[in-house]
Amino acid sequence: MTQVLTDASIEHSATIVEFPGGDHRVDPKRVARLARRVVAGPDAEQSVSICPMTGQPLATLPVSTPEDVTVAMSAARAAQRGWAALPVQRRAAVLLRFHDLVLEHESELMDLIQLEAGKARRHAFEEIADCAIVARHYGRRASAYLSDTRHLGALPVLTQTVEAHHPKGVVGIISPWNYPLSLAITDALPALVAGNAVVLRPDQKCRVTALAGMELLVEAGLPQDVVQIVLGPGGTTGQAVVEQADYVCFTGSTPTGRRIAETAARRLIGYSLELGGKNTMYIADDAHLDRAVEGAVRGCFSSAGQLCISAERLVVHERIHDAFVGRFIQAVEAMRIGTELRWGIDMGSLVGQEQLELVSAHVEDARAKGATVLTGGRARPDLGPFCYEPTVLEGVTPQMRCRDEETFGPVVSIYPVASDDEAVAIANDTDYGLNASVWTRDGRRGRELARRIHSGTVNVNEAYAAAWGSVGAPMGGMKDSGVGRRHGREGILKYTESQNIAVQRITGFGGLPGMSDQRFAALLNTSLKVMKMVRLP
Ligand code: NAD
Repeated sequence: MTQVLTDASIEHSATIVEFPGGDHRVDPKRVARLARRVVAGPDAEQSVSICPMTGQPLATLPVSTPEDVTVAMSAARAAQRGWAALPVQRRAAVLLRFHDLVLEHESELMDLIQLEAGKARRHAFEEIADCAIVARHYGRRASAYLSDTRHLGALPVLTQTVEAHHPKGVVGIISPWNYPLSLAITDALPALVAGNAVVLRPDQKCRVTALAGMELLVEAGLPQDVVQIVLGPGGTTGQAVVEQADYVCFTGSTPTGRRIAETAARRLIGYSLELGGKNTMYIADDAHLDRAVEGAVRGCFSSAGQLCISAERLVVHERIHDAFVGRFIQAVEAMRIGTELRWGIDMGSLVGQEQLELVSAHVEDARAKGATVLTGGRARPDLGPFCYEPTVLEGVTPQMRCRDEETFGPVVSIYPVASDDEAVAIANDTDYGLNASVWTRDGRRGRELARRIHSGTVNVNEAYAAAWGSVGAPMGGMKDSGVGRRHGREGILKYTESQNIAVQRITGFGGLPGMSDQRFAALLNTSLKVMKMVRLP
């Protein structure tokens, strides 16, 4: 396949090399430099990753054994003490410098994201923006989030109570392949600024991007050893991280999340899990149709649907069904699909063969059981070995796999409804609860509908970016979509141990000198009544 190097990628041609036949590989010199950051022995097994855009080898990197993970943990633990001792403002300054570096190096990072994940450049840019937004937020707000909080003491005035926060120690981060920069880095940022060290184990498919992101963090001033990177299969290297970290942040599927939670529960360590979804987008009868169509195309097909918060169920009010579906199909059919390192492509490739097989199986199962394929429904090997057309189904029933299982691909099913109640019922008829989207011109109706949907984020008149990018507010899944939240106060305090320091002044709870227990109890009884009367919290 011939690939075209654009001005943007030529500018950073040190990052990638074009091989005969047009295949791109990450420059072996760059890979060798990044490989030095991987904790692995000199004789480590090497593993080759495949570029989804070409199906050809992309980069060769070492595999870390569970023993290497132990080495990484010790180094991280040793470095963490000095890092935590720095004033929070010093740690926050690293994030703010990282913000600038990510934006400065966006082109080179987007090349890597595209080459490893196969996505279109516009979707790679979302990862750049996400890193910058999260770095800015925690760079500016960490100090306030982490500062001591005064609380009303047990005995007002006499008890002075302060809530303090201490870093957990070493946070293990297991990140997936679908957002290789964003999900490897943005969960590490609040952990780091809170004074933790991090042991990162990125997915095997997207290791170079994660390494490049971490290299930028070090360039921004992060002490080398505070972040350790280990590479290798989830069942061995990943599992070893979960077995040894003081806290685990995992992003991936629900079955793997359950296994990680079992290990964490046995070890009595905290964890957060950002898992799968079966997200609904509802187009109400008063929706602005042009905006809804644009939002639906983005919401269903960003990163070829390999986005945990993308929509796989499109619920459409029957009054506008025909008008909306007609325009939506037209917009989907106009999408430019491709595997090139340039702007102007609307959807890229799936990440690999396994994902292609899963997506094809869901569509074939639906077709065989009577669903109508309104558009798409075919692999496109002419565009890339793992490309699949954006696909819209109608007539999907509970017997079909794609009704309830997460497809994690460019496949959406349309469900017509006669009322808002019916739409909410479909949105809630799933074990997942990650993201939802509601389109209506009536802001109040949108907010009311949002509260009725059991989902960690609900976007009104947006597909996913409004909630995702509002990083001061928590984001994460209800039900089988996860435990815990990223972003905002919750997204940083989860990486800390909170401590209650209460100082008792003058007299305490043992009674007053010379006062009987009975009289002291009577005094407390009266005091408690007064406290409620004066509306103390
Ligand atoms: P997966 O659960 O199969 O794997 C996720 C990662 O965990 C992989 O890198 C894997 O190697 C590793 N892993 C496997 N077993 C492990 C173990 N025992 N210990 C530690 N690590 C282990 O998921 P996937 O198919 O790679 O990713 C797609 C899934 O991720 C989808 O379900 C998607 O919805 C979900 N996801 C969720 C979010 C979110 O924020 N909620 C974001 C992106 C992806």
